[in-house]
Amino acid sequence: MSTNISTAESFRDKVATVDKKGKRIWVFPHRPKGKLYNLRSWMSLAYLIVFFGLPFIKVAGHPIFLINVLDRRFILFGQIFWPQDFFIFALGMVVFIVFVALFTVVFGRVFCGWACPQTIFMEMVFRKIEYWIEGDGPQQKLLAKAPWNTDKVVKKTGKWLAFWIVSFLIANTFLAYLIGVDEVEKLITEPLSKNIGTFVSLSVFTAVFFFVYLLMREQICTVICPYGRMQGVLLDRDSIIVAYDYKRGETRGKFHKNEPRAIGDCIDCEQCVKVCPTGIDIRNGTQLECTNCTACVDACNKMMEAVGLQTGLIRYASENNIVNKKPWQLTWRMKAYSIVMCLLLGILVWLLASRTDVGVTLLRTPGQLYQKQPNHQMSNLYNYKLLNKTFRDKEVTLKPENFDGTIKLVGENKLVIPKDGYVSGSMFIYINNDAVKRRKTNLKIGVYEGKEKINTISTSFLGPFNEN
Ligand code: SF4
Ligand code: SF4
Repeated sequence: MSTNISTAESFRDKVATVDKKGKRIWVFPHRPKGKLYNLRSWMSLAYLIVFFGLPFIKVAGHPIFLINVLDRRFILFGQIFWPQDFFIFALGMVVFIVFVALFTVVFGRVFCGWACPQTIFMEMVFRKIEYWIEGDGPQQKLLAKAPWNTDKVVKKTGKWLAFWIVSFLIANTFLAYLIGVDEVEKLITEPLSKNIGTFVSLSVFTAVFFFVYLLMREQICTVICPYGRMQGVLLDRDSIIVAYDYKRGETRGKFHKNEPRAIGDCIDCEQCVKVCPTGIDIRNGTQLECTNCTACVDACNKMMEAVGLQTGLIRYASENNIVNKKPWQLTWRMKAYSIVMCLLLGILVWLLASRTDVGVTLLRTPGQLYQKQPNHQMSNLYNYKLLNKTFRDKEVTLKPENFDGTIKLVGENKLVIPKDGYVSGSMFIYINNDAVKRRKTNLKIGVYEGKEKINTISTSFLGPFNEN
């Protein structure tokens, strides 16, 4: 019994694309054809239009998306986020991770097959170029084995050149998300010496993309990607995955025309294996290498139609679906993840909704106690920093909210915060001696733009030790 299990599961002891000597087994998948592949192609086209088009969309002259890590400038959906808003990012990341976990528990790796940039660029851009230049999988295999004759040199050089051009385009777009399309444009219009840093980044990104899509390929999904590695803990018997219906398919055997079929529906044509871009046999069961690309679903459906059997031998299904013919249902794990995700999402929405256009930091100047002033007043010195998270200059005033006193800026008459920038300085708060009844008085200060209150700051005022 144990011998049978270890034999049946022995494929799990090795990576499908590495041989016994540890050498890479190059995969030459056949060109997929079918309804799901067509649907994925259209979806990928929409995805590519958005990916390449988004950096060019501007709101009030600014990119709608910018993730400038070096200068710590972030614009999402036209809204400026400063490093001070980082807690929103952090929470957004937590929500995203819980969402990914929940999504995977329910739908398996459907993201990998349909929306992951790696799959879209590999299967829908680079692979298509490869099919166009070198032909289908078997021809590519023959070409790889062939000596370096004129045909091979022309095809390989053509492919490398095409791959390099596409990698260069992706690198430009990627860079535009990081530094903005205007900076990338400068690289084209201005002398190279003025933009040497941008040029180096662009060259490095281009080389990385070229290397990934020419050589690394499916290894990114099967060996490197951490999301792929997490499948073992996220998937359960109710997760929907691309699955082979072994109940229906086994015992497999060749199809013989005009002969009654007394065995399973799998005709052992191996078309599902031949189209697989990760080089696995889905009939072995759920495997970490499977990116749920559905190429095997299309290939098997085509064969089933050709021999007059029912399609769906390989389909989206859960293990329980296949074994017990049980309809899909919500499990306790899915319900628990959903509750956590709704809670986190609620907090995130609240944080985004209550986020103000002007961020304020007000701290008492370190090392300073209170100062005695004429006219029975005392003062505290503060350092302020006001951030403008919009694309227009803002003039603001600070007004006492819960105390009778005055606020005086040091060296400034008015507070003008430049667009997408900040202003900082020092200020005094003066309060009548009678109003300071304890060592530390809590103050509230309103930040006004015209008559509109846009923020409220809380701070404290230090009084003498020995009074009350
Ligand atoms: S087994 Fe099927 S779905 Fe999974 S990667 Fe291979 S072809 Fe794609
Ligand atoms: S394509 Fe379908 S019929 Fe052919 S080997 Fe794969 S599972 Fe069996």
